[in-house]
Amino acid sequence: MPARTYLDWNATAPIGAAALAAMADAARDWANPASVHGEGRAARGRLERWRAEIARGLGCLPDQIVFTGGGTEALGLALRGFDAPQIVSAIEHDAVRRQARADAAVVPVDGDGVIDLAALERLIAAAPAPPLVALMHANNETGVIQPVAEALTLVRTAGGRMLVDAVQTAGKLDLPAADFVAVSAHKLGGPPGVGALIVRCADGLQAIQRGGGQERGLRAGTENLPGIAGFAAALTERADRGWLADAARLRDRLEARLAAAGGVVLGAGAPRLATTSCVRLPGVPASTQLMQLDLAGFAISSGAACSSGKVGVSHVLTAMGLDAAAAGEAIRISLGWTTSEAEIDAFADAWCALAARRRAA
Ligand code: PLP
Repeated sequence: MPARTYLDWNATAPIGAAALAAMADAARDWANPASVHGEGRAARGRLERWRAEIARGLGCLPDQIVFTGGGTEALGLALRGFDAPQIVSAIEHDAVRRQARADAAVVPVDGDGVIDLAALERLIAAAPAPPLVALMHANNETGVIQPVAEALTLVRTAGGRMLVDAVQTAGKLDLPAADFVAVSAHKLGGPPGVGALIVRCADGLQAIQRGGGQERGLRAGTENLPGIAGFAAALTERADRGWLADAARLRDRLEARLAAAGGVVLGAGAPRLATTSCVRLPGVPASTQLMQLDLAGFAISSGAACSSGKVGVSHVLTAMGLDAAAAGEAIRISLGWTTSEAEIDAFADAWCALAARRRAA
């Protein structure tokens, strides 16, 4: 058993060997793809090959890909570059909540964290014009998968557009055919700082980052070739999704043990990503659990780990009906393609020992 066990894959996944090798190769054959000389044209050729590879991996056309500096920027392009009344779900990532309009209408979720489609339908009908609806594919804290196909039908019927945050699902699930879909390389084994917005309908979409005419004029700035090479290689590695069945088995094994020791699995009644488990230990703050488990060698997160490392109250869990104290007792364990049964069993041992100590105290 290694000294440390990484169970925080939803925060970021380790960069894989194929991605690292592709990045090193891209850094050797160096030129700006906008340059007209031979090296520039060769770089353009490589960029377009990686774009095609990524499009295959994401299930879209190459000319629908707009490369960005990550998931946050991809979401911002749709939210800030398309002018329409906005509707967002209550459980969106801060990258959506903080880039959406201040007057965006909010769709509530049920106790399992699934959006209320009837409420969405009412909000769409009440919008002053066909809206832009932002809904995540799967939630980063609970793994709960949203009914995006049903939501898309409602949005299309009203002539609106839909943005799907697929940052947690790209490379794991087939992506929905929404107008805009945001993805990020570092959640699937590629490097951080590179992502894409799939743009199926560019009508009315304006760049928010202006400068050179790169990416069909929708995202200025010299393309991040090593990052894009790593993104393509990682996504191609993820084409074999066999590991997800193992992850589901490990997640179920973990949850059975934690539930038997007093844990409450959040979102358990909804379809969920195989790789995410959000578990509450009543009476024990998440910060205490994080610290003790960190000391025991396990890297996990609370529901709401923000960039400063502070732990706040999760808007996702409170939207699901938990009060602030209960929401503050939930941790997130997230698994990846190398997670082993031995790691899960060791984590379950450590968590159950912690729960037993608290019961005895
Ligand atoms: N959306 C979700 C659901 C996420 O989990 C994250 C990252 O944690 C983001 C958006 C932001 O992506 P990036 O880190 O690539 O900017």
